[in-house]
Amino acid sequence: MSSQKGNVSRSRGQKHQNITAFKNDKYGATVQIKNAKSKIHNGLCQHCKDVLEWKVKYSKYKPLTQPKKCVKCSQKTVKDAYHIVCKPCSLQLEICCKCGKKEDIVIPVNSQLDDEQEEEEDKQMKKTHRGQRKDLDSDDDFDDDSDIDDLDGEDD
Ligand SMILES: [Zn+2]
Ligand SMILES: [Zn+2]
Repeated sequence: MSSQKGNVSRSRGQKHQNITAFKNDKYGATVQIKNAKSKIHNGLCQHCKDVLEWKVKYSKYKPLTQPKKCVKCSQKTVKDAYHIVCKPCSLQLEICCKCGKKEDIVIPVNSQLDDEQEEEEDKQMKKTHRGQRKDLDSDDDFDDDSDIDDLDGEDD
């Protein structure tokens, strides 16, 4: 009889454990990560845009959970992680949202507004779909009726 049965199973068990180590979805593809991936890094100079894109790529980008204070207008209007200047200030002063320097902005701030409008339209689309679903739900009423019939039958 073999008293060394531990050897075989042990080396096998560990072999496959590191396969998913570098996947973004390791902790479940959260909405935040998905948003970061599709994020438009606007109002940034080339350098800062590269830095943030790098962070997104290697899953180091941590989105803000609440607005941060803008260093220019001192209001909590900074909605993007790693930014120190809010979008309106960046636009007005023509400075980078992240480093606050007067650099060439790669993607103008304005393009973000279009993005938000699209989301609104998306919500309205979902509302329409929900309205259609209500028609299907009315079928359930028929099922309820048949249940009552069954109960009546048991009484007999
Ligand atoms: Zn500001
Ligand atoms: Zn910058």
